[in-house]
Amino acid sequence: MSDFLAPPVPVVPAPFHTPEREKLQEQARVFAAERVQPVADELDKVKGEIPPSLLDEMAELGYFGITVPREHGGLGLGAFEYCMIAEELARGWMSVGSIIARAQGAGTGVADEARRTELLRRSAAGTWIGAIALSEPDAGSDLAAVATRAERDGDEFVVTGRKRWTGNAKAADFIQVLVRTEDPRPGERRSAGLATLVVEKERDSFPEGLTGRPIDKIGYHGFVTWDLEFDGLRVPAGNQLASGDQGFADTQQWLNIARVHTAARAVGLARAAVEDCVVYLQEREQFEHPIGDFQAVRFTLATMAARVEQARSFYQHVAHRLDQGEPCEREAAMVKLLATEMAAEVTGDGIQLHGGNGYTTEHRVERYWRDARLTTIFEGTSEIQQKIIADRLLPRSPLG
Ligand SMILES: Cc1cc2nc3c(=O)[nH]c(=O)nc-3n(C[C@H](O)[C@H](O)[C@H](O)COP(=O)(O)OP(=O)(O)OC[C@H]3O[C@@H](n4cnc5c(N)ncnc54)[C@H](O)[C@@H]3O)c2cc1C
Repeated sequence: MSDFLAPPVPVVPAPFHTPEREKLQEQARVFAAERVQPVADELDKVKGEIPPSLLDEMAELGYFGITVPREHGGLGLGAFEYCMIAEELARGWMSVGSIIARAQGAGTGVADEARRTELLRRSAAGTWIGAIALSEPDAGSDLAAVATRAERDGDEFVVTGRKRWTGNAKAADFIQVLVRTEDPRPGERRSAGLATLVVEKERDSFPEGLTGRPIDKIGYHGFVTWDLEFDGLRVPAGNQLASGDQGFADTQQWLNIARVHTAARAVGLARAAVEDCVVYLQEREQFEHPIGDFQAVRFTLATMAARVEQARSFYQHVAHRLDQGEPCEREAAMVKLLATEMAAEVTGDGIQLHGGNGYTTEHRVERYWRDARLTTIFEGTSEIQQKIIADRLLPRSPLG
């Protein structure tokens, strides 16, 4: 029998390669394998949350401030490094690749400069990790339909309404909430009058005026995802993001980077399936052969690996362009669409190649599939990405 082959690991390709990036990638890969994956193996099964000690280790490595400028304590890097690290972390556990998105300067864009500086420092240090509350029971794909109200009362806003799907809400230091401060005037877009408020809170509790109910999910453990009810929660007016009533435009901007980050997480999960299959196909024998000898199996694995490489190249390309200051709205939607659909299919193929063992909780591939399946839904479904792309390619006729 030939020598056992270890799964190949990706390298930063030539046009984007720097020694610093190679070092960062290696560091994140080792951290994911040694520190993240064992925690995922233990906690995913019991729907546990990412332990504070792991968050501390991530903070130590600078993962909450990858894109925060150095003068504020961050690593001062760009979307490329952010996504590259997210891929490595998601290869260990998707939720760990996700939690870093709740920092990176999120919830710091308040008008007061001194406070902004302080929050940026906390963001980079991992002591300002948030939750993002955009979706509502009746506003999912259609975020312009957000109905949670924030009424001004002196120096405060009074917030009333319901949010759905807010990940990490109770464990967070803040919740960034998309609210309606005014109704659109006649002739205005439906998204007019939306603003973003930052609700500051203690970890592991809800402030007065806010209650939550956990949602029971089939995957994406490590995070608790919440239904939230705002009932007269008071938020200082100074906690409105400085962009004022440009809340919708702000959200679209945030979603752009979030979509490339989701593509990177999807690549991490699909890669995990390929790597696990490379091992399993050499170990498992049928018909007196390792099943990896059978051409049908080899071809499936080959196609899986090719699709992962393709998606990685695409997200790296889009992340690089974002770092050059290009808006890339269409490309962010394209890579989110292709990488997440790829990941859902490739992790499903991984289950198939594991046979009956793939359909048990004894092998990690089922977790990859449960987590990958979500990536085609959140941060805008695949259909919404198709809509974004088509709307930028093809004008509608006046009759449409
Ligand atoms: C586990 C999980 C975690 C999440 N975390 C967060 C979070 O932290 N914060 C947050 O704000 N949100 C979060 N979300 C919400 C997520 O972003 C939404 O679920 C997603 O945007 C889809 O909205 P929806 O579920 O209301 O589906 P709907 O909008 O009701 O869509 C249902 C179906 O209709 C299709 N559809 C809708 N409109 C169109 C259209 N115009 N054209 C074609 N097809 C259409 C959709 O593609 C989908 O297939 C999370 C969701 C999940 C499941």
